[in-house]
Amino acid sequence: MDQPDTSIDRLKRIVVQRLESLGRAGITQLPRRAATPLEAPEPTSQPASPEPVAPVPSKLEPPRTAEQERPEDMKKGRSKDKAAALAIVQQEVAACQRCEELACSRTQTVFGVGDPNAKLCFFGEAPGADEDRQGEPFVGRAGKMLNDIIQKGMGMERSDVYILNVLKCRPPGNRNPSPEESVNCREYFERQLEIISPKFICCLGTVAAQNLLQTTTPVGKLRGTVHDYRGAKVVVTYHPSYLLRNPSAKKFTWEDVQLLLGEMGLPVPQRG
Ligand code: SF4
Repeated sequence: MDQPDTSIDRLKRIVVQRLESLGRAGITQLPRRAATPLEAPEPTSQPASPEPVAPVPSKLEPPRTAEQERPEDMKKGRSKDKAAALAIVQQEVAACQRCEELACSRTQTVFGVGDPNAKLCFFGEAPGADEDRQGEPFVGRAGKMLNDIIQKGMGMERSDVYILNVLKCRPPGNRNPSPEESVNCREYFERQLEIISPKFICCLGTVAAQNLLQTTTPVGKLRGTVHDYRGAKVVVTYHPSYLLRNPSAKKFTWEDVQLLLGEMGLPVPQRG
């Protein structure tokens, strides 16, 4: 049976991945931080006393422990670290040539967008024409539909979540990603999710759900149940592009959103 993945294991894995990533980027040495010389004690005019001296309470505040850190400071620090780690992966993606056809035909890679510290990630399939042009996932008509799901359906903002795809390059003619392309790109989305560490993932459509959960079960059978991806709760729903073509399926996505909100402990927003 697999051992439970502890936070130390996860941290180790992130450090190893980061070092491997730096290696691939040609960085073989890391700068050493100069050791801070120990400060000499203040000279004192007081003669050394043979008598034991009662301790004088220090006016200096003791350093904060991790538990005492202000939550907003910790959040800022974590976000900065995560943003830096994501930027390293993004650089690798921008130079990636693993899928010859996609690397030749793309305008640019489409990495991901949103809060690196997000609790919720939306996971889609691949960039379309608008995304390929703008370099951001879900910006066309399907993006507007996703924004509606986030804002009207969940009462959240797009900037509260992180949005990424299985593939970082547009398949020509918006065809489905080939199995080989999905395998090629898998490392990147796994590393993104490893860094962000979301508590919840919403898979948008068959390709996203089947790749994340490594299953061939159709989306219609995956939705309605909470799945697991490395400790994150996963809810599956239809892709916004499918909803644009089949508006009658919106009611199912509404049910899926309610399932997700319930898992997140968030209230269902009033529908206007
Ligand atoms: S789809 Fe992914 S693996 Fe393929 S070339 Fe683009 S970034 Fe590389």
